[in-house]
Parts: sequence; C-alpha cells; structure tokens
Amino acid sequence: MPDFTLDEILAHADRRTLAAVVTHLAGDPNAVPDLRDREQIEAKAAEVLPPYLSGAKTPQPPSDEVLQSAMNHAVGAEVPAAYRQLAREQAGVGPVEPPAPLNPPDGFHVLIIGAGVTGVLMARVLNQLGLTDFTVVERNAEPGGTWYVNQYPGCRVDTPSMLYSYSFDPDPDWPEHFSHQPELLRYVKQTAERSGLNDRLRLNTEVERMTWDADTGAWLVDMTDTVTGATEQITAHAVVAAMGILRVPKLPDIPGREAFAGPALHTALWDKSVELAGKRVGVIGTGASANQVVPAVAPVVDSLVVYQRSAHWMMSHPKYGKVLEGIEKALFQVPMYREWHRFSEGWKFGDGVTPMVTVDPSWPHPERSVNAANDRMRAQLTEYLESQVGDRPDLMAKCLPDFPPYGKRLIVDNGWYQALRRPNVRLETSPLVEIDEAGVRTRAGHDDLDVLVYATGFQADKVLWPIQVTGQGGADITARMEAEPEAYLGVAAADAPNLFITPGPNGILGHGGNGMLFAECHVRYIVESLRLLFERGATAMTVKPEVLSAYQEDLLERLPHFVQSLTTFDNWYRGDRDRVIAIAPKSLLEFWNDTRRPDPEAYAFT
Ligand code: NAP
Repeated sequence: MPDFTLDEILAHADRRTLAAVVTHLAGDPNAVPDLRDREQIEAKAAEVLPPYLSGAKTPQPPSDEVLQSAMNHAVGAEVPAAYRQLAREQAGVGPVEPPAPLNPPDGFHVLIIGAGVTGVLMARVLNQLGLTDFTVVERNAEPGGTWYVNQYPGCRVDTPSMLYSYSFDPDPDWPEHFSHQPELLRYVKQTAERSGLNDRLRLNTEVERMTWDADTGAWLVDMTDTVTGATEQITAHAVVAAMGILRVPKLPDIPGREAFAGPALHTALWDKSVELAGKRVGVIGTGASANQVVPAVAPVVDSLVVYQRSAHWMMSHPKYGKVLEGIEKALFQVPMYREWHRFSEGWKFGDGVTPMVTVDPSWPHPERSVNAANDRMRAQLTEYLESQVGDRPDLMAKCLPDFPPYGKRLIVDNGWYQALRRPNVRLETSPLVEIDEAGVRTRAGHDDLDVLVYATGFQADKVLWPIQVTGQGGADITARMEAEPEAYLGVAAADAPNLFITPGPNGILGHGGNGMLFAECHVRYIVESLRLLFERGATAMTVKPEVLSAYQEDLLERLPHFVQSLTTFDNWYRGDRDRVIAIAPKSLLEFWNDTRRPDPEAYAFT
C-alpha cells in the first residue's frame, strides 16, 4: 500500500467492515463499543493494524465470541449464531477443515457435463481429493459456461466480484467491483487451467443420451463431437450434470418472428459481427440482460425502441460501475478487510434479504408488497426510481413496477433509467402484435427496425433436456422432468443412480446467494455423497422414493409463502409452468446446511 497512508486508507473504509476487522484482529469482542463512532473505530484500527501490516503478526481464526461480535458489526445487526460456520468458510475468516481425500474404487469414472462455474469447480475438487479419473464435456468451444455464452455488449456480473468468486480465490485482481463478462470468462478458464483440468476437458462435445446399465452399475453415455460429427459411447460410474439453469434461450411467441429481414439476436446467442452503430434497433424485454445491453448500445445506435411488457424493480449499489484501483484496491490489502467485506456483502445479497421475500398473510397491502420489510424496500426502490426519472412523469408512470419487490429478480441498475432518458431511446409499453419483415408492430403503431434484439431470457424449466436420460428400470428421467420436475435437495432425481444434477429443479435460491456459492454448496454435497458411496462399498446410490416425495411435499407446501410464487405476475422461476420450479423456498442458511453432507438414510445403496 505504498501510495497511501494508513490514515487515508482507514478514512476510505466501510465503517462496519472496518469495525469487524478491528474486532477480529484485536481478538476482543468489545473492541468496538459503539458501531456509530467512526472516529473511534478508525483510531482503534490504527492501533491494532500495524503489526499485521508489517507482517509481525498473522491473523488467526477468531474465537466464537469474537466471530459473533465481528459478524454483528459487519452487518449492523444481530446475526444468529447459526451463521458462524458459514462465515468461517465462505468469508474465509477460518478455520476451514479441508475435506479428506476420496478413495474411489479402481476404475471409478466420473463424467461432468458442462465446464461452467460449477463443472469446473467439481472437476477441480475431485482432482484435489484424488479422484482423478474424470472427464468434463462441454458443448461450447471454450469453458466458461454462462460467461462464455453471454457475450452481449455490457454483460457483467450484478453481484460484487469479491463475493461472486470462488471462496478459494476471491480476488484474482478484479478490475472492477462488478466485473464485466470478459473478466469472468478469464477467471473461470484460468481456474480450469490452474487446477490442471484441461487434459480431461473435451470441448465441442454434446451429450445426447445416457442410459443406466444395472448390470455394470454405470451410465452408458452417448456423445457427439459437434465439429466432426463423430459419435462415441463412454461409461461413467457417476454423472454430474452441471449444465446450468439459464442455458436454453427463450424466444417470444410473437407472430411473424421468422419474417424479420434484418439480424435478430438473442442476448445469449450474440453475433459480434452484427453492426449496431447508426442502426435502428429494437430490444424486446426489460430484465437483467436488457438492463445491461440497452445502456451499452444506446449511445452508438441511431435509434432504440425498448419493448416493455413489465417494468422491473431496480436498485442502485454505490460500487457498481466503479473500478477497483488506487485506494479502493489498497483497502482490500488491509488484513481481513476483504474477508469481512465478503461477509457483509454476502449478507446483503443473502439472508439479509430473506425477511423481505416471505409472504405475511396478515399484511394489509398485498396489492403492493408482501410484508412490512418488503414494503420498506418498495419505498426505497420507488425513491430511487424517482431520483432517476421523477422529473419525467411519462417514464415514471411506465417504469413503476406493479408487483412486489423480489417477485422477479431484483436488478442492479446499469444505467437503465439514464438510457431511457436519451433522446434516441423510446420505451414502448404498448403490447406487441407482430413482427414483420420491416420491424415490430405494437397496438400503438409500427417501428421500422434494422436489428432486433431478444432480451427475453431463458427457459429455466428445462432440466436435463435435451439429453435423453434413461434411468433404473428404463425410467424416462427426461420425460419425468418435463412432466413434473423434482429432485431431492434440487440434486437427486428418482431412479437415477449416481446422477447429480446441479442445479436441478428448485435447486438454487432466487433472492439470496449467488452462482458461485450455490456451486460450492452442490459440489460439496456431491463430494460427500461419493464419499458415502465409497465408504459403503456400494456401486450406486439412489434417492429413496418416499424421501423424495416427502421433500417435494414440503417444498410445494412452502413455495406459496415466497413472493416469487405469487401468480399476479410472471417470472422466469416458473418457466411456462404454473408453479415455481427453478428456486427453492429456503433461506441461504438452510440451503447451505442442507448441502453440507448427505443423509445416508435418504438413499438406497446397491
Ligand atoms: P428475464 O429476466 O426472464 O427477462 C426477460 C424479459 O423479456 C422480461 O422483461 C420479459 O417480460 C420479456 N419477455 C419475455 N417474453 C416476452 C414476450 N413474449 N413479449 C414481451 N416481452 C417478453 O431474462 P434475462 O433478462 O435474460 O435475465 C434472466 C436471469 O439471468 C436474471 O434474472 C439473472 O438471474 C440472470 N442474469 C444475470 C445477469 C447478471 O448477473 N449480470 C445478467 C443477465 C441475466 P416480463 O417481465 O413481462 O415477463
């Protein structure tokens, strides 16, 4: 930190995060008696930090008492003690017990489908634990998953990068607080490379079919090389389907879609050769992808029409769009600052939100919110909207959502409202009627367009599809998933021995956590499941039907209590179905606890 004095750095620190750092490093739960007293926190930090900065002292994992006090300071509220272990592991304050090596039987081969955030992590962990006989297949030409597929202009993460990162590598020198897609792609690819996985990675390879062979206790997997067309069958004793949930682009069912004469791009199927500069562009959709592509292209296009079916709620974040350099970077070199920052952001993007998503049946204003905390959030978001377009009654009226916050995924504003204010941008709320050769017709009129962008999201209810999975006793697992998607803990399907879907139906959360964290939870669960399988000396483990039905019954009973289940609006968590299938009605803590290790009683071993 040669460019800044300690005082300068401390003056720049987040007060709560610094209070947690001071408490931790002082090893004293009472080191910060008044969280509101910034001066005193900085003074205490200036006293405690020097030996850690000079290297004379090394931070030690905190006692439970110190940890508890630091957690409370980091979020400015009493955090239940049940979060301590999560903080130790996820924030990295330690200690963390490394998992013991796995002892697979000779020849036990694992197939990982998908080399995205989860697949790469799965392979890395298996490799580290001594299960080195695995193959990762990836249908794309590069690893990276969602960060390879989504290459539309403006694409970036909307969770802070220090949080949206693997816990073993939270800061690979992120250039921004919320990094752009190329950085994330680089990160995932680099993780694969540094973990020594590339020799077991098969790119341009699509799995077509998997059939459980009870005689050998293995999956027979048919796959195709998408470049040469060559087909091959391999045997895998366990399969991790890490294909991701937002992978099947959804195109809107609007008459005439095929007629459009110009280029038509889905955000997840972007063609960089299509020139947008100086063109008349239409964007259909107003979700997270639109929120990024619209501000990115608005300054270069001739005109832009944004077709909105619903307004979405948007929040601002003080660090969004800010680079991580200078004093901002120096701050993260303060011992334990990054760890406590990760915890406090993790709370804000995690269970800090859970109270806002739970429906209170006695709440008197169901037309606008679902409980008092959700209502306060609505007021804050409305205030933010007013700060952006309050002087434009036309935009104010169009941009105010008519559903409770978190009903659809909350978006971090990427300059959406400012883009809508541009003279060359029009927000069209009249319903779409048809697409024709020249452009788009709404009930209000016709727009001539050169390029049409579909920011219309994904079919999140496609589980395993299009792979034809035939399980135990010939069970058509793919058809079952199409008919009624269900998996124990969002991972294990009935009659599908040694098949781990990550994430499977209701396998992630909608309001808290992030893709990296969900990946770490599922990977841990899968590793511990394999350990159990090996320890039992069994060939296969299959979730017991009665366990899955009890789990599903409970899930279906709890789902309606979450705001995302309300039926007065649409969201991608439901896909085209009448119930939410993508996310689970759980707190992050429950999700994390559920995936710590498998319950041996939940599985039948053969
Ligand atoms: P999305 O949230 O599902 O939004 C799709 C948009 O298209 C919605 O505005 C939807 O309208 C509209 N739409 C769909 N069909 C339509 C039709 N037939 N007619 C008119 N409008 C139609 O999809 P997304 O924006 O791609 O985001 C999906 C998820 O991906 C996000 O919630 C997030 O989890 C993830 N994502 C993350 C990031 C990030 O981290 N930075 C970026 C992009 C995406 P309605 O709202 O009325 O349904």
